[in-house]
Amino acid sequence: MTATTTTTGPEPSASPDLSKPVGDPPLLEVRNLTVTYGGTVPAVRGVDLRVEAGQKLGIAGESGCGKSTLALALLRLLPATAKLTGEILLDGEDVLTMKWGRLRAVRWAGASIVFQGAMHSLNAVHRVGDQIAEPILLHNAKATPAAARKRAGELLEQVGLPAARAQAYPHELSGGQRQRVMIAMALACDPRLIVADEPTTALDVMIQAQILRLIERLVADQDVGLIMISHDLAVLADTCDRLSVMYAGRVVEEGPARQVYAEARHPYGRALSAAFPRIGDPASRRAPRGLPGDPPDPAALPGGCTFHPRCPVALDSCATEDQELREAGGERRAACVLVDAPAADDSRSTS
Ligand code: ADP
Ligand code: MG
Repeated sequence: MTATTTTTGPEPSASPDLSKPVGDPPLLEVRNLTVTYGGTVPAVRGVDLRVEAGQKLGIAGESGCGKSTLALALLRLLPATAKLTGEILLDGEDVLTMKWGRLRAVRWAGASIVFQGAMHSLNAVHRVGDQIAEPILLHNAKATPAAARKRAGELLEQVGLPAARAQAYPHELSGGQRQRVMIAMALACDPRLIVADEPTTALDVMIQAQILRLIERLVADQDVGLIMISHDLAVLADTCDRLSVMYAGRVVEEGPARQVYAEARHPYGRALSAAFPRIGDPASRRAPRGLPGDPPDPAALPGGCTFHPRCPVALDSCATEDQELREAGGERRAACVLVDAPAADDSRSTS
């Protein structure tokens, strides 16, 4: 696969022969990734990401912005109608060009995914312990069923459940417990990268906090990389080191998590941040405000900047001129024409 056929997103950085990485490559480097469903639905358009071991990257955006497509693309778990271009370098090795055997080894052990919606991702007719043991048996030819079951019990304890819950069926567990089981499964083969797609969205606030702290602790203890996906910028700002904000399949803003949350440079980042104020944070006392409208259907993207129809500060030129990510102060980048004219874009109300 090549990264040369698309024009969206920044050019991959000029580097020597990428097939032979020199030195220590980052844990994950995504370059100019595009995903098009059925030849006509560009759900991910020219995305670049980078995650180091021990680093937590948050990906934010409303429903329909391409977050799950991006997550599934990382391990080539998308349906056959999805065409991918670009590079997904896991420890320097391109997932997009891997042979099936290698890809099977990388799934779970190299990187694993905690899917959106634990109830639907667990098999209703199998005990959860057996479901955790399955990838262990699949990935380790020497593992016996008894050893895999024992390891499943240990993993359950690691995520705060008694080992005896291995005997339970999914319907016998609460939503929070099921999500813990999903996390135990994701840890089963000691992955170096964990992708968590809306891991707490279906949970109530107290359980949400417990699951987030659990994920944080596991990432810190095991020095793995984390990609956490959510529509809730406040949750990501609390949990992650860096944030990428996606809109209509592209990253429109990125930078240190707390900075992006506190003072986003892209109007979409500001809208998301205003929609999810952090409880008890005096810096975010402004009332939550919704953003009118919905993200565009990727099959019918508006011209110019895809955010312009909803943008409270759009210029006339935004209807025709698209914007690339550009330096936006410090370690931040944003894809907005107003980044170059900060004085003109301060429309944020404090009400
Ligand atoms: P998010 O996770 O941010 O809500 P998704 O990645 O699920 O976004 O979806 C992004 C866009 O891709 C949506 O417009 C969705 O309708 C479309 N899409 C997702 N999966 C498929 C598919 N299998 N076939 C066609 N279009 C899809
Ligand atoms: Mg999703």
